[in-house]
Amino acid sequence: MTGQNQRIIVIGGGIAGLTAAFRLQRAGFDVTVLERSESELIGGRMSTVERKGFHIDVGATLLLSSYEVMIQLAVDAGLAHQIRPAGDVFGIFRDAAVQRISSGNRLHMLRSPLLRALPARDLLKVAADFGRARNLFGWHDMSRAAPADFESVRDYTVRRGLHPATFEYLLAPFVAGPALAEPEQASALSAFFFFNTLIASGGTFTTPQGVGFLPRGLAGQLPVEYLAEATSVEEHKDEVTVTWNRPGEPEHIETAAACVIAVPPPRLPGLYPQLDDGQRTYLQDIAYSRSVHIAFGLDRPTAESSLLLQIPRIEHPELAAYVLEHNQHPDRVPPGTGLVMAHFRGTWSADHWALDDEQVVKHALAGTRRLGVLPELERHMTMAEVFRVSPCTVMRRPGEYRAIARFARTLRGDTRVRFAGGDFLAHSTTNSSVCSGEHVAAQLTRFLHKARTDQP
Ligand SMILES: Cc1cc2nc3c(=O)[nH]c(=O)nc-3n(C[C@H](O)[C@H](O)[C@H](O)COP(=O)(O)OP(=O)(O)OC[C@H]3O[C@@H](n4cnc5c(N)ncnc54)[C@H](O)[C@@H]3O)c2cc1C
Repeated sequence: MTGQNQRIIVIGGGIAGLTAAFRLQRAGFDVTVLERSESELIGGRMSTVERKGFHIDVGATLLLSSYEVMIQLAVDAGLAHQIRPAGDVFGIFRDAAVQRISSGNRLHMLRSPLLRALPARDLLKVAADFGRARNLFGWHDMSRAAPADFESVRDYTVRRGLHPATFEYLLAPFVAGPALAEPEQASALSAFFFFNTLIASGGTFTTPQGVGFLPRGLAGQLPVEYLAEATSVEEHKDEVTVTWNRPGEPEHIETAAACVIAVPPPRLPGLYPQLDDGQRTYLQDIAYSRSVHIAFGLDRPTAESSLLLQIPRIEHPELAAYVLEHNQHPDRVPPGTGLVMAHFRGTWSADHWALDDEQVVKHALAGTRRLGVLPELERHMTMAEVFRVSPCTVMRRPGEYRAIARFARTLRGDTRVRFAGGDFLAHSTTNSSVCSGEHVAAQLTRFLHKARTDQP
C-alpha cells in the first residue's frame, strides 16, 4: 500500500472532493472529508434530494455517455448496477414548435429540421471550426485551448459571417444552457466545448436515485464530517494544519500529511492565504452564473418526448431550458408521473435572486403558457419547489483559457496542498470535477510516496 496510513484531509464533499478522497483511501491513506452542509446535500452541486417521492437533482442533472472516467469510478465503487442508459432526444424551441435532435444517431442529427433550416454554408464553417477546436479540449485542464481563445460567441459569428439564426439557434444555446452565460460574454470555445459534451457525446445515462447516487455512494464508503466548515489551511514543510468549525463545538485544529481543497475557486483565497498574487487574482476573477430553477412534479409524464428542451432567448427572454427527467428513463420518477425542471436564464436569475418562490413559479408558468409548450405543468402539477444555487457554473470569457494556462503553470508538483474541481482549470461539469479529483489523487499519491521513500 502506497499511503501507509498517512492522514489526508479533503475539504469539500462535492464530487471532486469525494472522487479524490475515494482514490486516496484506495491507495492506503487515512482520509477524512470535511463537508459544511448536512448529509442530505452531500455532492454539493451534484446532490439529489427527495420530495414527495421525487428524486430531485439540486444542480447537475444530465450525465453524458462520454463521461467515461465517471462511469469507471462508479464501477470501481460498486455503484454501476444503478446506472441506466437514458434518452438521447434534445429539443430546441423555434417558431412555435419543438425541433428535436437525437444525439445517439448521427444521420438523424444531420437530417433534423433544426439543422436543415440553417444555411448549409454556415454548418460547413461551424463543423470545420468545431473539428479543429475539439482537439484542444481537456476534461480537467483546458490550457491547450489558450492559443485559439480570442473571441466571444458573438464575435466569432460576425468574423465567420454567419446568419443570425445560426447564432441564436445553434451557437448561443450551448453557452446559455450549460453555463447560463450570454453569447456576447462567453468565449466561442466554450460553446464548442459544450456542443461536444452535449450533442457529440452520443447519449446520456441516469439512475432511479438521480445524480446523487454517485456522491452518496462514495460518501457511504468514506469518513465524512458533516456540518464541518474549514476556515483555514496552513502548509508547513512536513505537514498541513487544517482548522474547522461545527456549530456548538470548540474549534477543531488538525494536522495531516496533505490536504485537498475541493471548494469553488473563489472561496480558496479566504481559506488558504499561501497563494501568490497572480493565483489570487485569477481565482477571484472567475465569473459564475447563478441559478433560480424550479422542480415541477406532475401526476403524469408530458407528451413532449425530449430530455432537454432549450429555449433560445429570441423565443423567450426569461426561460433558458426545461429538463424532462421522466424522459431520461421511466425508473427516474415514481410510476406514471413526470418531473420537469424549469431553468431561467443566468442574467434573469441574477436579477431576480430575491424574488419570492410564489412569484418565481408564476413567472415560469406564464412563460411556459406563452411558449405553448408543456401544458401539463399547469394542469397536472402536484408539487413545485424553487431551488437557488450560487455559485452555479463558471462562465469562461474570451482570454480566460490563456489565464487558465498561466494558472496551471503555477501549480507545483511538490506541495502538500492541492486543489480539485473542474472550475479551477476547465468547465463546470460533473465529469470535469471527477477528472480533476482523479488527477489530484494520483499526483498526491506519487508525491507522498516519493517524500516517504526519500526520507533518510
Ligand atoms: C443548476 C446546475 C445545473 C448543472 N447541470 C449540469 C449537468 O447537467 N451536467 C453536468 O455534468 N454538470 C452540471 N452542472 C455542473 C456540476 O454540477 C458542477 O460542475 C460539479 O458538480 C462541481 O463539483 P465540485 O465538487 O467541483 O464542486 P461543488 O459541487 O461545489 O462541491 C464543493 C463542496 O464543498 C463544500 N464546501 C464549500 N466550502 C467549504 C468549506 N469551507 N468547508 C467544507 N466544505 C465546504 C460545499 O458545500 C460543496 O459540497 C450543473 C451545475 C448547476 C449548479
